[in-house]
Amino acid sequence: MSDAYNGFGGIMTIVNENYLKLPGSYLFSEIGKRVHKFTEENPDAKIIRLGIGDVTRPLAPAVIEAMHKAVDEMADEKTFRGYGPEQGYSFLIEKIIRFDYESRGINLGVDEVFVSDGSKIDTGNIQEIFGLENKIAVTDPVYPVYIDTNVMAGRTGTMGMDGKWSDITYLPCTAENGFVPVLPEGKVQMIYLCLPNNPTGTTLSKTELKKWVDYAKTNKAIILFDSAYEAYIQEDDVPHSIYEIEGAREVAIEFRSFSKTAGFTGTRCAYTVIPKEVTGYTSAGDSVEVNKLWNRRQTTKFNGVPYIIQRAAEAVYSEAGQAQIKEQINYYMKNAKAIKECLEGLGYKAFGGINAPYIWLKTPDGMDSWSFFDKLLSEYHIVGTPGVGFGPNGEGYFRLTAFASKDSTDEAIKRLTSPISTSY
Ligand code: PLP
Repeated sequence: MSDAYNGFGGIMTIVNENYLKLPGSYLFSEIGKRVHKFTEENPDAKIIRLGIGDVTRPLAPAVIEAMHKAVDEMADEKTFRGYGPEQGYSFLIEKIIRFDYESRGINLGVDEVFVSDGSKIDTGNIQEIFGLENKIAVTDPVYPVYIDTNVMAGRTGTMGMDGKWSDITYLPCTAENGFVPVLPEGKVQMIYLCLPNNPTGTTLSKTELKKWVDYAKTNKAIILFDSAYEAYIQEDDVPHSIYEIEGAREVAIEFRSFSKTAGFTGTRCAYTVIPKEVTGYTSAGDSVEVNKLWNRRQTTKFNGVPYIIQRAAEAVYSEAGQAQIKEQINYYMKNAKAIKECLEGLGYKAFGGINAPYIWLKTPDGMDSWSFFDKLLSEYHIVGTPGVGFGPNGEGYFRLTAFASKDSTDEAIKRLTSPISTSY
C-alpha cells in the first residue's frame, strides 16, 4: 500500500486522479454555459441552435406503432418480459444482420452483434477490454469521447501546452490534406476511425480505408470504426461498413447507432459488431478472441436494452420504417445542402454536408474557434460548435449541424445573408 493510504490511516477515499487531468468542462457544457449567459443578458433573443448534434424530427410512425404494441405486450402477463439477453434479442440482431450487412455482401454471426443503449457508451467502454500499455491513435479533430475515455483510463500520458496528450498519436485531418488521415509513422495498437466523420463530415474511399486495414493487419492493431452516421452516406463509392474491405473482419470493431439513423437519440439503441476473428494478445503473446472479452464485459456490466426499445428499433427495418427514416435523412440533408451553399455564397470555405449532417467551415480571417462562436452568437444569435472542441487540429474551424428544423435552418440562412439586425 502506498504512503498516501498509510499516511491517512486508510480513512480517505482516493479518487481516480485521471479524471482530474481532463481539461475544463466537456465541450457541450461550455457551450451551454455561454448560451445561458447570453440568454440571461438578452432574454428576448431568439436563438437558433445549430450546435449540438441532436436530431429534431419525431420518431417515425412505424417505430411508434411498434413501441405501442410492445408496451401492450408488457401489460399482459402472457407476453410480459423481464430481463432479456444482455447482447440483444435475436429478432433485432437478425434484422441488423440481414438489412445492414447481408444486403452489402457481408456475413455476420448472431453472436458477433451486441445491441446496446448507445454508441457513445460502446465507443467509450470498449477501451476497458484492452491493456493500458496500448498506444492509441485518433484522427484529429474527432468526436471527443474516444480521447476522454482513454484519459479516464490513464492511457494518454500528460497534456502539453499544445493541447495534445503525450501518449496519443494524433492523425491530423485538415483542409490541407483534404481531411484524409495519414497512417501513423510508428506502431499503434488501437486506432479510432469515425467515418463519415464527426465533425468534418468527410469519408474515405475503399482504397483509402484498405490502407488502414492493411496497417492494422501488419501491426496486429485493432481499428475501432465508428459509423454512427452511416445512414447519411449519399455517394456510391463510399463504404457503408468497414467489413466491405477485405481483411477487416480480422482487425475491426464497428459501432453503429439508431440515434442519427432513426431519431433514437433520446430513445437509445445502438449496436457493436465484433467478428470472431478480431484478436488481441496477452503480454505472454497468447491470442485472445476480443468478442469473448466484450461478451464477458457486457454480461457483467450491462443488462440489455429494454424490450420496448428493441421492438422500436426492429421497426426501423420494416418497409414503412425504411421509407420513413429515409425521408427524415433527406430532410436533414436538404438542410445541410442549404447551409453549405449559403456559406460558400458568403465566401467561406465549407466542407462536409454531402455524406454527413455536419458542415465544417474554416473560420474567416484566421479567427480562433471560440471567438467565431461568440461572434455568431452575439451578432446572429446562432449557436454552432467551436472546432477546437474536437481536438487541436479543429482550431480555426467551426461545425454547424443540419439537425435543426427546416424553418430554423432557413431563418439562420436568412440572418447570415442579410445585414445584421438587433431584432432576432
Ligand atoms: N459516435 C459519434 C461519432 C457521434 O457523433 C455520436 C453522437 O453525437 C455518437 C457516437 C453517440 O451515439 P449514441 O447516441 O448512439 O450514443
